[in-house]
Amino acid sequence: MELSDKRYLEIDQALMVFSFRQIQALITLANLLNVQGIKIEEVEEFIKAKRKIEETNEQQSRDFEVRQKEAWDKHAPHCPVCSKVLLLRQIRIPKGKGNIKGYTSLWFCEGDGCNYEKYGYEDVEIIYKEITEGTYNADN
Ligand SMILES: [Zn+2]
Repeated sequence: MELSDKRYLEIDQALMVFSFRQIQALITLANLLNVQGIKIEEVEEFIKAKRKIEETNEQQSRDFEVRQKEAWDKHAPHCPVCSKVLLLRQIRIPKGKGNIKGYTSLWFCEGDGCNYEKYGYEDVEIIYKEITEGTYNADN
């Protein structure tokens, strides 16, 4: 299909803000939609729905984090030095040169100027679960 000079200029004007790459992407997309029988209006609806799903997911994960933090503050053990809520980290270094005693867990304090640390052999995943559920028993 050969364009007339007039048509060429019209299209050039209409698309001048787009780069070659964008126009190429448009052609690829338009061909794909055509082959799949998808209308541009459907793509717009799809984008709206997808955005909504992502927003809902983000909100849910924010809510989850807030609930987890609340549960942690409520049920996690406190620092014996400064009484701030302790944090827990899993130690992934296998027993050996970098972890001579083969520790699997580290309770630590982020209190101001407090360097409390307690290494242990606890299963961090289970403790997280128990603290979130409020069933953790720090009797050690
Ligand atoms: Zn402390």
